[in-house]
Amino acid sequence: MKVDLNQRRRLLKIGTTALALPPLFAISQMSHAGTNAALRSSLKYQDTPQGEKQCGTCMQFVPGKKPKDKGGCKLMPGDTEISASGYCVAWAKKA
Ligand code: SF4
Repeated sequence: MKVDLNQRRRLLKIGTTALALPPLFAISQMSHAGTNAALRSSLKYQDTPQGEKQCGTCMQFVPGKKPKDKGGCKLMPGDTEISASGYCVAWAKKA
């Protein structure tokens, strides 16, 4: 099978694009994860529960996609790393 110059260029282009996609995908996934350090600190957030009080039972908690995924908090914009078993001083029982 003979490959002419144009086909070779096209294959090279496709190969280069295919090699560039995985790192871009990884970067885009990383951009979704984040913490809000300033609010975590001021609300004294911790990754462990405080007795019976934990994010999973708080009215401010926004669960992740799957039950074991980390979620968010309505009081901490941009923070997607809130643990369901975490806690902060703004805890308020879910109704
Ligand atoms: Fe967790 Fe505090 Fe947010 Fe409630 S307010 S979900 S306890 S971080």
